[in-house]
Amino acid sequence: MSADNWAICPKCKEKNVTLREDYEIGMDEFGTLSIDYSAYCKECKFKYKYNYIISIPMEDKKEIV
Ligand SMILES: [Zn+2]
Repeated sequence: MSADNWAICPKCKEKNVTLREDYEIGMDEFGTLSIDYSAYCKECKFKYKYNYIISIPMEDKKEIV
């Protein structure tokens, strides 16, 4: 799943400037979950990128009690 969104920039929120966000999240057929996020404000040039990949173990499916 990927999407983009307009949020309020945390650095120039007083001016109500929008922050562009792009993100993608999903799991592939091997059980790898990846999260990709980026944000950019064209007013103050603030940008932030976050990427996280985790392999989810397919064994040891113990029931949660
Ligand atoms: Zn800004």
